Amino acid sequence: MIFKLTDDQEAVRTMVQNFAEKELAPYVDEWEEKEIFPKEAFKKIAELGLFGLTCPEEYGGTNMGSLTSAIIYEELGKVYRAMSYLSISNLVCFLIYKNGNEDQRRKWVVPLAKGELFGGFALTEPNAGSDAAAVQTSAMKRGDDYVINGSKIFISAGGEADVYTVVAKTDKTKGAAGASILVVEKETPGFSFGKTEKKMGMCSYPTRELIFDDCVVSKDHLLGDEGKGFRMIMEALDGGRINIGAISVGLAHAALTKALNYSKERVQFGKAISEFQGIQFMLADMATEIEAARLLVYKAAYMKDQGLKVTKEAAMAKKFATDMAMRVTTDAVQILGGYGYMKDYTVERYMREAKVGQIVEGTNQIQRVVIARELLR
Ligand SMILES: Cc1cc2nc3c(=O)[nH]c(=O)nc-3n(C[C@H](O)[C@H](O)[C@H](O)COP(=O)(O)OP(=O)(O)OC[C@H]3O[C@@H](n4cnc5c(N)ncnc54)[C@H](O)[C@@H]3O)c2cc1C
Repeated sequence: MIFKLTDDQEAVRTMVQNFAEKELAPYVDEWEEKEIFPKEAFKKIAELGLFGLTCPEEYGGTNMGSLTSAIIYEELGKVYRAMSYLSISNLVCFLIYKNGNEDQRRKWVVPLAKGELFGGFALTEPNAGSDAAAVQTSAMKRGDDYVINGSKIFISAGGEADVYTVVAKTDKTKGAAGASILVVEKETPGFSFGKTEKKMGMCSYPTRELIFDDCVVSKDHLLGDEGKGFRMIMEALDGGRINIGAISVGLAHAALTKALNYSKERVQFGKAISEFQGIQFMLADMATEIEAARLLVYKAAYMKDQGLKVTKEAAMAKKFATDMAMRVTTDAVQILGGYGYMKDYTVERYMREAKVGQIVEGTNQIQRVVIARELLR
């Protein structure tokens, strides 16, 4: 076993690090505070090829693989946690590339991979969160069209994204086996946007309700076959969960760096607080847990790149890394004491941002369900 990244992977890490420090870091606080979706910054990210991580060059992508993607998300997570939106657009790109026909790939994958269009992933509904098979949004066949009715909630970049992969029942008499995925474009008549949520963190991208009221799309908007939507989602989520894990590793690393630096400067009882064993043990635990999470993430990503099934490993990486990030960011606030609670010192933002990782793309309870199911299989 060789614990060494390739020269190419190290070069990508340096490139993303430099980009994030220059183009993101100076502005993140303002974007978050004023709830600004930084479309221009995302366009610059597109120029680096990061919107096409999940599809090949012939469709405009860069297809960098799961491990290189994890490194990219880790670096972005160190600076801007809300960059997880990039993972969602890549997930949409992957869903259409993997399950779409040639026309659909040309129409949507190419511009998504180039970042000319932004993607949104629409699964969650008021009564269907963890129990995703309970979605009630319907897509009924009418001639050569589908008529979509229902609503989605909590959709990342809702209203900002141009193309949405919408999970809807094409057969309401069935559970998961009745679900299909349709691609719906922003300006489609009958498709509108409702409430924008006020959130604990990640305020620079909107989280919004989608409303479908007799929204008609042609049958060319169906991905693959009817009833196969959940199989497609589960495959895509393996990759998404590794990315969330990687972002959480980056976020936790940033929190540790702040806490470490502060502990060396802050003097109490006549010495730097880093000289107190109580603080040292916290720092040691934080660093150890980050390293453990990073290894789980990298291993899942490596296995995925080898074409192996990673449902269990991706769930483990996501669960451990996001729980770890919650603990590490909370401890970072603790090490900064009262200053940690103040907005000027950033660690309170890290703590608020860490929380979302435990909830999205399957809560960490659901990750345990997935892991146990794989163990007992
Ligand atoms: C910031 C943000 C962005 C989001 N972006 C998107 C998006 O872009 N697209 C999208 O489709 N969705 C999105 N979501 C929705 C997200 O995926 C759901 O919130 C998540 O899947 C949980 O669903 P729920 O909120 O309905 O919670 P529920 O499913 O109601 O869960 C409530 C609690 O019960 C627990 N629970 C549920 N079932 C079980 C079980 N079987 N065993 C043990 N515990 C269980 C859960 O873990 C949780 O603690 C987003 C959410 C947030 C907060």
